[in-house]
Amino acid sequence: MYTEVLNLTKKLIDIPSISPKDLGCQEILIKRLKLLDFNIERMNFKNTNNFWAWRGYGKTITFLGHTDVVPEGDIFSWKTPPFISTISNGILYGRGSVDMKGSIAAMLVAVENFIKNNPNHKGRISFLITSDEESTGKYGTKKVVSILEKRGEKFNYCLIGEPTCENILGDCIKNGRRGSLSVDLTIYGVQGHVAYPNLASNPIHLSAPFLVELSNLSLDKGNNFFDPTIIQISKIFSGNNYTTNMIPGELKVFFNIRFSSLITKKMIINSIKCLLNKYSIRYSISWICHAKPFISLPSTFCNILSNCIYECTHIIPTFKTNGGTSDGRFIFHLSDETAEFGLLNSTIHKVNECVNLIDLLKLKNIYFNILNKLFL
Ligand SMILES: [Zn+2]
Repeated sequence: MYTEVLNLTKKLIDIPSISPKDLGCQEILIKRLKLLDFNIERMNFKNTNNFWAWRGYGKTITFLGHTDVVPEGDIFSWKTPPFISTISNGILYGRGSVDMKGSIAAMLVAVENFIKNNPNHKGRISFLITSDEESTGKYGTKKVVSILEKRGEKFNYCLIGEPTCENILGDCIKNGRRGSLSVDLTIYGVQGHVAYPNLASNPIHLSAPFLVELSNLSLDKGNNFFDPTIIQISKIFSGNNYTTNMIPGELKVFFNIRFSSLITKKMIINSIKCLLNKYSIRYSISWICHAKPFISLPSTFCNILSNCIYECTHIIPTFKTNGGTSDGRFIFHLSDETAEFGLLNSTIHKVNECVNLIDLLKLKNIYFNILNKLFL
């Protein structure tokens, strides 16, 4: 029953494609897509393998995915070898089983089954697959999308196979993601002797009330899709390891902001600068925006996806934007609707990453039903 999707998932897990390496995963997919008369365009840049494949004309669905995986981590904590797919009690173990070789296999088998039944289907089915989602992403989806954009490519529906479900298959669709802004702040004081604070200026004392207010700063209230924007301080250091009788000259703080689409990077920067000025702090600061937030308001495609999930699982999914960033941030502006739906995320990036075989089959059926509803 689930041999097709299981066999392909196993084959992919058995290739240790630690990001950004692909090591032949994509050639397995390309070979099968060629048999279905897909047009294939390999777009390999530096250390990253990507391909863009399409078949048919008109309204377009793009399946977006990645063949790379994160390293195995603590090898001794794995019950089974991470790069040898192993089944035990109806569960398939192996690195990439849920993130996201299982869903890539489900996409491909769903498309194969659909085309077998409907060789002259309506619409255009396409794949954009990269081997660098887990690493820098520099030469992956971002680069391919920039090339497709120059050609005037547009997509109606983009389906990303990231593992979105939390407790049970079907419980969560992601229709956007928060932005991520990292901040490197240095607060300056004047170095001196702890016994003569009048001759120095202590940056730890200066920063304390500022940091309290920063960590509680309310930047927005969130909405139906986004939680309120949050600031998390990740590192603070000052002073040295050798003396305890010195007032340090400076204090360094690193923090990260996961922000919604209700606010812009510029607005965040202004708020933080205002706060620094409020406390008359001398500082230098640098900002790195890793991702802008995006939101795709649920419409035709999300309704179809939602219905297909319900039909296969009897679960009504919730739309969310939580969690880390995804490659959706690179493609959403070219797509009328972008949605992420895949397997359970409870074991992603952990030791003993695994997928329930029934979930794998259900996911394939959900993807298959989407094609039936869109292009029959
Ligand atoms: Zn992933």
